[in-house]
Amino acid sequence: MKYIVVTGGVISGLGKGITTSSIGRLLISAGLKVVPIKIDPYINCDAGTMNPFQHGEVFVLDDGGEVDLDLGNYERFMDVSLTKDDNITTGKVYLSVIERERKGEYLGDTVQIIPHITGEIKHMIRSVGIKANADVVLIEVGGTVGDIESMPFLEALRELKMEVGDENILFIHTTLIPVVGSVGEQKTKPTQRSVKELRSTGIQPAMIVARGTMELDMKAKHKLKSFCEVAENAIFNAPDMDSIYDVPIHFEKQNMLSEIKEKLKLNTSEINSQKWDEWKAFVNRLKHASNQISVAVIGKYTDLKDAYLSYNETFHHCSAETDTKINVEFISAEDIEKCDNLDTMLSKFNGILIPGGFGNRGTEGKIKAIEYARVNNRPFLGVCLGFQMAVIEYSRNVLGLKDANSTEFSTITEHPVIDLLPEQVGVTDKGATMRLGSHAIKIKEGSFAYNIYNKNKIYERHRHRYEVNPEYIEKLEKHGLIFSATDIEDKRMEICEIRDKKFFIATQFHPELKSRPMAPAPVYLAFVKSMIQ
Ligand code: GLN
Repeated sequence: MKYIVVTGGVISGLGKGITTSSIGRLLISAGLKVVPIKIDPYINCDAGTMNPFQHGEVFVLDDGGEVDLDLGNYERFMDVSLTKDDNITTGKVYLSVIERERKGEYLGDTVQIIPHITGEIKHMIRSVGIKANADVVLIEVGGTVGDIESMPFLEALRELKMEVGDENILFIHTTLIPVVGSVGEQKTKPTQRSVKELRSTGIQPAMIVARGTMELDMKAKHKLKSFCEVAENAIFNAPDMDSIYDVPIHFEKQNMLSEIKEKLKLNTSEINSQKWDEWKAFVNRLKHASNQISVAVIGKYTDLKDAYLSYNETFHHCSAETDTKINVEFISAEDIEKCDNLDTMLSKFNGILIPGGFGNRGTEGKIKAIEYARVNNRPFLGVCLGFQMAVIEYSRNVLGLKDANSTEFSTITEHPVIDLLPEQVGVTDKGATMRLGSHAIKIKEGSFAYNIYNKNKIYERHRHRYEVNPEYIEKLEKHGLIFSATDIEDKRMEICEIRDKKFFIATQFHPELKSRPMAPAPVYLAFVKSMIQ
């Protein structure tokens, strides 16, 4: 088994996730079996308890793991389905070591960062590789080299290098080359410092990926070579690109795969597989889409684009599939609340999407936007909280249940049309306790949803505590809000639709979490097609 480790220097938010994902795409295109791992040096055991404003969206895997959004990038670029073990955090490592210590499993030893914490990190990494039967374990170390938090991880990786030997592990340092001054000089000093910092942990990078606004010039490359001891052909440009999906192609043009293969003595074919052709064709379609539409995404975390990363990416996938550029505009639900004339704000959009979310802020704005979409027959898609809001809107404005609400927002409402899932009653811990991950869904034949999926059993990913209150289902359906899909036991409502509308569908699950470049989420694709018409 070979290991590739991607570290980051100078600043955070460099696009290490996209660099790692792109390397992954190159490797799988050469026929290698790759398993990615994201290391997050924070103390949280997983990303589930974090506000999306902190690190962007919480991504959810089939097994219910609530993980860093980079795992979403890995899944999309590498077309794999990952597990919660593929995201290692400081909290997870310590929890495991402390649990073992409490059981007395260290047999009287003093439990220390070295060797016990570093040993546990190595054990977790190796186990992921073995379980996946991988040719290459591709590890991204979150944070920036020099952070106190990442020290034990770098030490563990240094130890791993000693154990597996230099020819089996490759360190790639992703770094920033700022451009300053009126002449636009590319500055290598921050990178020199950060490589020095990395070397002080006993790790010499074999490759550098230089991020910046433009391609590296020769002078900068020479400097990096002499100060960082990295050969020129192992220094790669990663300038800002219009599409993240273009990054693997840009790397390949610089022969990155051959360099990796040579350094790791990988015995594989050249990159000319079907997987690579498909990727290039996808990027080509994405870049040359000829139509144009706009969609409004009305949410609460609109100041941070990463908070809705998977939604955005799904629209890219649909874009390539439909030859249509999709302008996604994020609108704060609170701005909708304050707006007197929704037509001026929303009529320019071809459709409206209400994404998932938590907490009361902005919910009345979301309900107002759904009413606008329904009354004016505009394509509408609701996801998770957006599904629940659609049920509340219908209850209030069609059934006349004026104070209908979710008990997440009002415990005194007379009409709790959205209520806590029965198994959530009495649950007080917040970490990993929602209804999470992939669950089977039954779709009713003859429904709009059935037309979209073309089958009656699907699997989609979930993340919620509340659901449609069963007491209101009959009444809602009688008035035209049809529940066209349920869980396998017919207990939980999974999709609702209004039949006589152009497109009015909402899902309790998150279809965007399974969308892939060459296989867009079916519900989104249908939504996009209805917006194009
Ligand atoms: N807050 C809602 C719930 O917990 C919706 C969750 C979501 O949108 N992911 O059920």
